[in-house]
Amino acid sequence: MLFVDLDRFKEVNDNLGHAAGDHVLVESAERIKSSLRSTDLLGRFGGDEFCILLDAGGNEAGADRIARDIIAVLERPFSGPWGPELIEISASIGIATVAPAEATPERLMLDADFAMYEAKRLGRQRAVRFGSELEAEMNARLGLKTDFRRLIRDGLLQADAQPVFSVQTGQVTGIELLARWRQPDGTVVPPSMFIPLAEELGLISGVTDLMLRAAGRQLRAWEGDPELGTAKVAVNVSGADLEDGWLLKAVRETMAEFGIGPDRLILELTESLDVDGSADDVAQFNALRKLGVQIAIDDFGTGYSSLESLMSFPVDFVKLDASLIARLGDDPRQIVVMRSITNLASVIGQQVVVEGVETFQQLDELVRLEASYIQGYLLCRPVPAESLAAHVAGLRSDPDSDLSKAFARTGIEQPIQN
Ligand code: C2E
Ligand code: CA
Ligand code: CA
Repeated sequence: MLFVDLDRFKEVNDNLGHAAGDHVLVESAERIKSSLRSTDLLGRFGGDEFCILLDAGGNEAGADRIARDIIAVLERPFSGPWGPELIEISASIGIATVAPAEATPERLMLDADFAMYEAKRLGRQRAVRFGSELEAEMNARLGLKTDFRRLIRDGLLQADAQPVFSVQTGQVTGIELLARWRQPDGTVVPPSMFIPLAEELGLISGVTDLMLRAAGRQLRAWEGDPELGTAKVAVNVSGADLEDGWLLKAVRETMAEFGIGPDRLILELTESLDVDGSADDVAQFNALRKLGVQIAIDDFGTGYSSLESLMSFPVDFVKLDASLIARLGDDPRQIVVMRSITNLASVIGQQVVVEGVETFQQLDELVRLEASYIQGYLLCRPVPAESLAAHVAGLRSDPDSDLSKAFARTGIEQPIQN
C-alpha cells in the first residue's frame, strides 16, 4: 500500500482559489494513474491524500519504484485555467507491505500513513517505507499517547510555578503556571514534548482545564501569604481552547468553583498562535476581560509579530521572548529592538514582561530600558507550585541569593525581610 500526500497543497487553495485546487487534484490523480498498472487500485482518501493498493503480484522493489515514479510525475509543474502561473507541488509517500497472514486493511493503512508522516518529517518530496525501526517508534509514541491520556483523565498533570517581579518594587506581581509531566520513575517529560502531543490528541483543553484548576487551588493556598497573596496567576492557553467559547466558560466555572475572582487570572496566548482575530475570538477575549481577566501575548518577537497583531487584540501584557534577551550579549542592537517594542507597548497601553532573565548584566540593561516586569532563572526558577511560597521566602531571607543581590543591585528595598 502507498499513502500519497501532496505537499504544500493548501497553498494552492489559499493563493489561487479552490477551483485551481480542484484542477490540480484531478490532474494529480491522472498523473498518479499513469504510473500504475491496470491491476492496481487508486483511490482518493480525502483532501489531498491518495491511497494505492498495489497488485499483490508486485514485489517489494516494485512498490519503491512506483513510489519514485509518482514523486517524479507530480514534480512536473501544473498549468491550468487560473492564468499563466505554473503551480509546483510535490508528494510525500508512505509505503507499507505486510505478510498476507497479517494483512488487515487497518494495519496497512496505519503503517503506510505513519511512514508518510515520517516522509514529511524528513523534509517531504520522498518515499519512506514502514519497517521495524518505524514500528518501534510508532509503538513508543502509542505508549506515550496512552500514558498521556491517562494522565489527563486522572488529573495528574502537575504545575510548576515561576514568579514575575516588578522591576520598580521588587514585588512578585504575577506567577506563571507551567505544566509538568512527572513520570512514576521520576523523569520529567518537558512541555515541548507533550504540548504537541496534547494538540495532536485533541487534549489541549484537558491541559488548560487542569492548569486553571491548579490556578484556583493555588490562589486559595497563597491567600494571605505576605509575598504571593496579591499576585495574579498566569495560565498558558492554546488556540484550540477558544473553540465554541470553551475558554470563557471554563474560566468562569473554575474560578467560581474555587471562589476566586476571575480578576486574579492572566491568560497567556502565544504569539505564534494561529489566532486569526476572527470576530468570535475577539468577542471571547472581550468577554474574558469584562470578567477582569487579563490577557498576555506570549513569546513576542519570535513569530510574525507586527504592530497589527499588537493592536488588533485586546491585550494587557506583552511578554518578550527569552531569545530576545539571550541575544543581547552578542548583538547590542538587540536593545534597540527591545526599546522599540517597549515604547510601542506603552503607547498602546500594554505592559512589557521580559522573560528569560539569566544574568546580572541583562538585568542592568533591563533596568536602563525601564522594563516593567521580569521573569527568569536569575530571580527564581520554576518550582512545584505547592513549594513556591517557601522557596521564595528562602531566597529573600538569604542575602547571598541571586534574587536578593538582584534587587540590592537595582537599589530597590526588598519588600519582605524574614
Ligand atoms: P513559555 O510560556 O514561554 O514559558 C516559559 C518557559 O521558559 C518555561 O519553559 C520556563 O521554564 C522557561 N524559563 C523560565 N525562566 C527562564 C530563563 O531564565 N532562561 C530560560 N532559558 N528559560 C526560562 P517550560 O516550562 O519548559 O515551558 C515551555 C513552553 O511550554 C512554555 O513556554 C509554553 O509555551 C508551553 N507550556 C508550558 N505549560 C503549558 C500549559 O499549561 N499549557 C500550554 N498550552 N502550554 C504550556
Ligand atoms: Ca507563557
Ligand atoms: Ca514565553
